[in-house]
Amino acid sequence: MKGSATPALMRLKRQDLLQKCAYVNGAWLSKVETISVVDPATGEKLAQVAACERSDVDTAVSFAITAFQRWRDVLPSERGAHLRKWAAGMRENAEDLAAIMTAEQGKPLTEARSEISYAASFLDWFAAEGERAYGETIPSHLARSRLSVQMQPVGVTVAITPWNFPSAMITRKAGAALAAGCTMIVKPAPETPLSALALARLAEDAGVPAGVFQVITGEAAPLAKRLLDHSDVRAFSFTGSTEIGRILLEQSAKTLRKASLELGGNAPFIVFDDAPLETAVAGCMAAKFATSGQDCLAANRIYVQGGSYQRFVHEFAKATSKLKVGNGFEPGVDIGPMTKPSVVEKCRRQISEALCAGARIVVGGQDSPLGGNFVTPTVLADVTDGMLIAKEETFGPVAAILPFDREAEVVARANNSEMGLAAYVYTRDLNRAMRVTDQLEYGMVAVNTPKFTGAPIPFGGWKQSGLGREGSRHGLTEYLEPKYVCISNIAD
Ligand code: ADP
Repeated sequence: MKGSATPALMRLKRQDLLQKCAYVNGAWLSKVETISVVDPATGEKLAQVAACERSDVDTAVSFAITAFQRWRDVLPSERGAHLRKWAAGMRENAEDLAAIMTAEQGKPLTEARSEISYAASFLDWFAAEGERAYGETIPSHLARSRLSVQMQPVGVTVAITPWNFPSAMITRKAGAALAAGCTMIVKPAPETPLSALALARLAEDAGVPAGVFQVITGEAAPLAKRLLDHSDVRAFSFTGSTEIGRILLEQSAKTLRKASLELGGNAPFIVFDDAPLETAVAGCMAAKFATSGQDCLAANRIYVQGGSYQRFVHEFAKATSKLKVGNGFEPGVDIGPMTKPSVVEKCRRQISEALCAGARIVVGGQDSPLGGNFVTPTVLADVTDGMLIAKEETFGPVAAILPFDREAEVVARANNSEMGLAAYVYTRDLNRAMRVTDQLEYGMVAVNTPKFTGAPIPFGGWKQSGLGREGSRHGLTEYLEPKYVCISNIAD
């Protein structure tokens, strides 16, 4: 088959990174029932992976409870040493991990390589941060008493992770959890379990003790529900759609646990007339088309001020028309296949609705000649706020450009969304940058750059984009509980 991923997988230096069994208590669990993992570029079946049952979830939870009793008492420096070794293993095997990711997720190999490096950086960062889980002492309001707060690991935790960043969304959660002294069970997206299992293999190499990090594979909804039915699961972290985040939060209401949710975005990308056009176009290309548009940080509403609007549309469309679409293994490819057919459908639906409502296609618009899960990079101009494409996250390589006139107007329009993850602003005017960043109702605001993520920053959204933060010292606290201790002197 042309462009088949199988040869790339056969060429892996370490074939043992291609695991098809779930990873429970340091052992590889095979199942008679399996789920198929498919190459989104070709539709070819890549692997059959264990379909775990509810009873496997129960087993994993009980091992996680046992492992926690020991792991919580391991010195933070020693926990950190395991995490660093794990990260080093990822870097040593980066080519294999990237090939596995491109095969099952579809993203261009260069992007898969970057994700592996990004993913490993969370393990290194939290390895160090775990040693800084400081508590506090409190000047006492009680006679002869010493008041202190210790930060202690919350216990057994669960991560439910998405298919768009199959490695980084695992290490961002597991790095923090393990550094804090928690154990973690990961349920990866059924589309991309191979990347998760390769990480488990490297955790095993790094000497992470049995039961501390486990991976349960199979059908999403029943496994997630079973995990969250356990009252011993004390925290969970989810990255995915707002719709599913809401379901998982509801399922957690019965047992009241800590929840960290990284949900959908609908990022405004605001270009003022005083911004250098070339820089704004280049930034917008990166913010729109990275991960083939399947990114919660993707520029979803590109607001451009009247004086630059026509030129911006022209230059942005020109750059978009040069994007190379194809199999992620082909050199020079910018846009891979969509990981799921539902993304292709959503792009189609948003384009046709926008056209009916008066938007115009500047480039693209037609179905991809490559067929299957491929989408032609498309630019729509003259989009208005009421169109579906401006109201919903697109999650594909379709750009919506909307004109605006005044600063106050664009801030109000940008904030007029239930989402509040990331926003971008391009301007040379420092006063304006300060005013606008102050007013944007978003968890993350980037000024004059499309690149702002990384292990040291608190990643997370306002409003219906989520709860809690990942990365940074805030990310560690998601896995810690404060314990206030009051020690009183017995009066002689
Ligand atoms: P998408 O629709 O783009 O796949 P989701 O939010 O549905 O985004 O998926 C993110 C993660 O949530 C994946 O691990 C997926 O398997 C999981 N998931 C999907 N549906 C459910 C569900 N009903 N219950 C629990 N987890 C789910």
